[in-house]
Amino acid sequence: MHSSSRFPEHLLKQLEEGQNLRKQGYRGRYAPSPTGSLHLGNLRTALVSWLRARLCQGVWLLRIDDLDMPRNRSGAVESIQNDLLWLGLNWDGPVIYQRQRRGLYSSVLSYLRRQGKLYACRCSRRLLAETSRPGVADRQIIYPGTCRNLNLPWGVQDQRLPSWRLRVNKEFSTTCGDVLLRRADGYVAYHLATVVDELMLGISEVVRGADLINALSSQLAVKDALDKSPVNYKHVPIFCDSQGRKLAKRDGSKGLDMLKDKGMDASKVVGLLAGGLGLVPLGSQLSAVELFGELTNNTDLIDRVLGPSSSLVELAINQKSS
Ligand SMILES: [Zn+2]
Repeated sequence: MHSSSRFPEHLLKQLEEGQNLRKQGYRGRYAPSPTGSLHLGNLRTALVSWLRARLCQGVWLLRIDDLDMPRNRSGAVESIQNDLLWLGLNWDGPVIYQRQRRGLYSSVLSYLRRQGKLYACRCSRRLLAETSRPGVADRQIIYPGTCRNLNLPWGVQDQRLPSWRLRVNKEFSTTCGDVLLRRADGYVAYHLATVVDELMLGISEVVRGADLINALSSQLAVKDALDKSPVNYKHVPIFCDSQGRKLAKRDGSKGLDMLKDKGMDASKVVGLLAGGLGLVPLGSQLSAVELFGELTNNTDLIDRVLGPSSSLVELAINQKSS
């Protein structure tokens, strides 16, 4: 059990609300960052996430992960919503914005700090790159615990604030190390915000792009520090272009506008996205609702796309890193 007795009342209430919502049925979400237009890979993930929620007769939320404000692009939120609706992917309830939930994340951080679960870290990015153990995948850094027992001050030193790290349980020391929860520039880190949201919004299953598999260990470590009740994580294969390269948001040209310019309507695009995953024959033309209808008697197709459950993925990560 988590140390619920020492949780502030308002946080405990929200955690329990989340647990109750998860018990009531499937709750999924799609959580893009508004850093640009969605590319085809993002749209394909959105389609699978929506399908999975609808096939489970569940709820599908749209959350805008807009905490990293310098990276946000104006107009991106509108463009994301327009693209989803054009494809027929309707979400439930109001759009949720992480920027409006910063008070909540701060409360959780304060709680963890009072519990002695955080410490100040003054490692620079460069130092981390030099000293950290090799990651389980490219670009992942496993924090070696340099500052863990140094008891560094929380205040300004050499004109810099420290970042805040979570002391993770031993099981996570080889997969992610102590997780950064608050950046030295004062921004709440992505892992904290997203885990707090999954828990408190009652998300029962996260369906997201396989490019986020690297984030899984860190997020499970953060989740464990707050709430041990289970959340499923599933990953949609990465969408590659014809040269086998992974798409990035900067490839805005590889989004819906390009396909619309070629005269494709929504049913052709849904067919293209679903066909690439083997959900329908290539070249199919059908609406998102029709695709849902096709899959209601064939739900193992979606299961196959989403691959192994989080526990198996974790196992794979552990084996790779040992
Ligand atoms: Zn450090």
